[in-house]
Amino acid sequence: MTKTTLIYETQTCSRCLGSGHHSFNLRDGTICYGCRGRKVQHTRAGTKAIEAVRAFIAARHTVPVEAVLAGDRVRVTRLGGSIVTRTVVATERTPNSFGRRESGSDETVWTDGITLTYAKPVPDQFGAYDSTTSPVGSTVLKSVSGADWDEVVAYARTLKKGVTVHEQEVADAAHA
Ligand SMILES: [Zn+2]
Repeated sequence: MTKTTLIYETQTCSRCLGSGHHSFNLRDGTICYGCRGRKVQHTRAGTKAIEAVRAFIAARHTVPVEAVLAGDRVRVTRLGGSIVTRTVVATERTPNSFGRRESGSDETVWTDGITLTYAKPVPDQFGAYDSTTSPVGSTVLKSVSGADWDEVVAYARTLKKGVTVHEQEVADAAHA
């Protein structure tokens, strides 16, 4: 089968000129902050294409947290801002767990919370199961795969600049 990936346009990092290193400090050594040591950074067109594709996905795959079911794969923002994909193994509703003070009055409005518990990520064998709890009505971004991904790729092809579609033949077993 064919695996399709999107490759966003990059250029040699303008801060380190492609070495991946810059001035030394005790915390991070000589890693370049322009590229995090990757030696390249996205061009302006590449960054615009990333934002356009993200917005396209967000518009189609954002759902209320109470609509998430066990087995769904969702995107989770971790402490520090990195985004990971997690498989939901359980959902639990906790009544009145989120309180919000009404503006201009002393009344507190209570909202149910939804706790999503995620399957343990495979490489992190020693980590505990993680979970997130959010108020009913807040939103979650579902992970994109299969036919939905084909739709994203079709959209990316309509962007004139900053992204190329890369197709690669892979063995089916890799997707099992
Ligand atoms: Zn750099």
